[in-house]
Amino acid sequence: MTNKVRVRFAPSPTGPLHIGGLRTALFNYLFAKKHGGTFILRIEDTDQNRYVEGAEAYILESLEWCGISPDEGGKAGGALGPYRQSERREKYEEYADQLISSGNAYYAFDTPDELDKARKEHDQEGQTFTYDAATRKQMRNSLTLSENEVKELRDQGSPYVVRFKFAEEAEVKMEDIVRGKVSMETTNLDDKILFKSDGMPTYHLANVVDDHLMEITHVIRGEEWLPSLPLHVSLYKALGWDATMPEFAHLPLILKPDGKGKLSKRDGDRGGFPVFPLEWKDPVSGDVSPGYREAGYFPEACINILAFLGWNPGTEKEIYSHEELITDFDLGKVGRSGAKFDPEKARWFNHHYLQERSVAELAGLFTPVLNEKGIDAEPSFIERVVEAIRERADFVSDFWEQSDFFFQAPDSYDEKVVKKRWKEDTPELMQALNEVLAGIEDFSADRIEEIVKSVITERGWGMGAVMNAWRLLLVGTSRGPSLFILAEILGKDEVLSRIRTGIEELSQL
Ligand code: GLU
Repeated sequence: MTNKVRVRFAPSPTGPLHIGGLRTALFNYLFAKKHGGTFILRIEDTDQNRYVEGAEAYILESLEWCGISPDEGGKAGGALGPYRQSERREKYEEYADQLISSGNAYYAFDTPDELDKARKEHDQEGQTFTYDAATRKQMRNSLTLSENEVKELRDQGSPYVVRFKFAEEAEVKMEDIVRGKVSMETTNLDDKILFKSDGMPTYHLANVVDDHLMEITHVIRGEEWLPSLPLHVSLYKALGWDATMPEFAHLPLILKPDGKGKLSKRDGDRGGFPVFPLEWKDPVSGDVSPGYREAGYFPEACINILAFLGWNPGTEKEIYSHEELITDFDLGKVGRSGAKFDPEKARWFNHHYLQERSVAELAGLFTPVLNEKGIDAEPSFIERVVEAIRERADFVSDFWEQSDFFFQAPDSYDEKVVKKRWKEDTPELMQALNEVLAGIEDFSADRIEEIVKSVITERGWGMGAVMNAWRLLLVGTSRGPSLFILAEILGKDEVLSRIRTGIEELSQL
């Protein structure tokens, strides 16, 4: 790549960042890092009506949590700022004026009533109204009014907007890294508003002007912006910036698990998975939406999940570290078709990364959960428990239900298991087992296993009969890890005591 790569993530602070937005940020980040470029965060807050308190801070925190903080913008600042569009207002007017002087844009004075009337008239004829090359000739704008009339209206302070003037008959040809060649006739394209009556630019003008001024080389964004591409490309040309126009890549939609439509917050609520990176509390309604972080996902799992929503390296490899993603990421391997979100796969990724964390760290994450339950265990004990059970867990929050019996003796025994496993001769068998266990000096899993198994064989006990009843006494039911490991971690005294108590309790039935 000849130019130094400069890409931007340009969210509007209208609410929490959806994982689709985070995926866009990630792909921009990976592309920048792969090419030794710069990843910029620009806040597109020109639409004051949609501004949501706290959204910008939320966006920044989400990027930080994922380890994809911007090099420019946000806290990093930079030479081509400000990076918040509301602080760049005065820059846009100049370009709107330039477009008017060059005949590429015009003032439109149509009132809401007049626009409504035009819409209704078209409706009656079964047509949809667009403010385009044909209809603009009948509207109240600087193309149909005289210079004097325009001046007068403006002097009077009549509200107006600035619209882009699409060529009457032309074809805009565009190249998209993901979609390939795209072309569109301009005849029926809406003359989009560039500048509003409130003195603020619209997304289209501000976006193109800023991409130019911030020297963006590649625009990587969601597919929902593809319909805006003809306008953006035409704007670059009209402003005389074709030579430095960025390349475009429109990322495929993220679809519901069943592939039927775009993934929404409601799908997450229904399916029990988050669609936001961090928990979000709506400042108006107070509603709280779950986040990946709070649901127990690790950031490295999160970016691995997101990377595969649209990108396919074309190999069997699915586990990618942050560094590997940077090395292997390739915009050319982003597909066109929608990427189905698979909640099971998301858990699978987290399961993998949970196994990679150190036992000490996981124990540290588990300790507050235990404390909350009034359990105060030795750190070394917690570590041994975590080591024994983590393979069965996708999240730290699964630890408790996989390990409660390590921290507390059973206070009841599962009826179904009792019915199946507690036979007439079981108390005697367990009594004998207790005696065998009491005689073991080195109470390690290996040694316990060796001795218990040989005693079972020597005395002709049934392996299943012993092991199932023993588990019932230690755990209270039929779940849990290897009994020998469980016994080692619980320690001899606790094991013997649970067996004694269990025999007593169950004999009273
Ligand atoms: N502000 C737009 C958004 O919220 C940015 C689109 C773009 O990247 O051009 O998605």
